[in-house]
Amino acid sequence: MKSSTTQTIIVTFFLLIIPTSFAAPPKLEDSFTQCLTTFKPSDPKFPIQNFTYTQENPNFLIILNNYVRNLRYFNGITRKPVAIVAAAHFTHIQATINCAKKLGLQLRIRSGGHDYDGMSYLSTVDFVVLDMFNLRSIEIDPKLDTACVQSGATLGEIYYNVANKSNNLRGFPAGICPGLGARGHFSGGGYGNMMRKYGLSIDNNIDAKTVDANARVLDRSSMGEDLFWAIRGGGAASFCVVLAWKIKLVPVPEKVTVSIVDLGRSPVLPIFNVETVGNRGGIQYSSNWFVPGEEAASDCLSQTERVFKAMSPYVSKNPREAFLNYRDVDIGKNLNSTYEEGKSWFRLRLELIPTTFSGTSRAFQCT
Ligand SMILES: Cc1cc2nc3c(=O)[nH]c(=O)nc-3n(C[C@H](O)[C@H](O)[C@H](O)COP(=O)(O)OP(=O)(O)OC[C@H]3O[C@@H](n4cnc5c(N)ncnc54)[C@H](O)[C@@H]3O)c2cc1C
Repeated sequence: MKSSTTQTIIVTFFLLIIPTSFAAPPKLEDSFTQCLTTFKPSDPKFPIQNFTYTQENPNFLIILNNYVRNLRYFNGITRKPVAIVAAAHFTHIQATINCAKKLGLQLRIRSGGHDYDGMSYLSTVDFVVLDMFNLRSIEIDPKLDTACVQSGATLGEIYYNVANKSNNLRGFPAGICPGLGARGHFSGGGYGNMMRKYGLSIDNNIDAKTVDANARVLDRSSMGEDLFWAIRGGGAASFCVVLAWKIKLVPVPEKVTVSIVDLGRSPVLPIFNVETVGNRGGIQYSSNWFVPGEEAASDCLSQTERVFKAMSPYVSKNPREAFLNYRDVDIGKNLNSTYEEGKSWFRLRLELIPTTFSGTSRAFQCT
């Protein structure tokens, strides 16, 4: 009798635990969307679920591919994000950072999608894309000669609006391609036709509204000068999400002279010889091909590598420096992505940055 009671208890116990122990764990995308919808603060006028696309959403691939600018990655094989949040309000950015951190997902931030290596929409581990294309307003203050530009705005939109509102008397020094996203472009420096007169884009960025890794909204004074320095040229994605920039507009010169040296045909080295001419120059090596497939890709990439090797004697060494906007991970990257490794590249300045993260949230008015 005693033993039959024990059996009954054991059988009942198993029956009770089987359904739960065999239940599938919640899918990553479900946990992520669930986390997003419960995040506070939120704004009822901008329900985050209306701006979130998981792989099951019929528009997922359209949204993802809209800003895939490197056709090497426009295929069915490339790893896709768990979800895309097309932020339309700053609380969406806060929620995405918070939930990605909580679930151990890597965060990729995308503005214009022009990164040469697709670093705004690719990853080798589970990740989410924070897409900025909905945040693209441009507000111009003609009295102060400034503009507030949200990260998702393209350079073409900025040039057009600034010219329109200033009777063609003002411009902004930045890159040549109108489709470049303001944020990615500025964070890597941003050079263009007006560089010799007005410097880089970052020389004319006067304030920024950012969201840091702890989801705090910061402006220049609350983030501190070291972080503000780092996000102008050091690639902002390592430090924060940039929501908007305040930029200084410049008078447009009547004439701009541009010369393009074609490496394939011209003896380029004498032009950039610092000792004889006294000029400092930047050289972009680019290789374009239109044949799909891995064979053509590796052939063209190996040609680029040969150019890199051939140029070694003429450029900086240890480290071989590069303009961030033209980085190329095919020729090398940090092995472990540790703070120590990164520090050797950013040198002393980076050591100061963690101490500046205690500011309060006091963002400038730029919605
Ligand atoms: C056709 C073409 C022409 C170019 N011409 C020029 C030129 O004339 N001058 C020049 O200087 N460069 C030029 N570039 C390089 C270009 O400036 C960089 O690739 C730049 O990073 C692109 O910015 P994006 O926003 O379009 O790219 P994305 O791919 O969206 O972003 C690039 C990087 O910035 C990060 N990022 C994007 N948005 C944010 C954000 N809101 N907050 C934090 N991080 C963010 C991304 O995570 C990624 O690491 C050109 C590139 C191409 C493909």
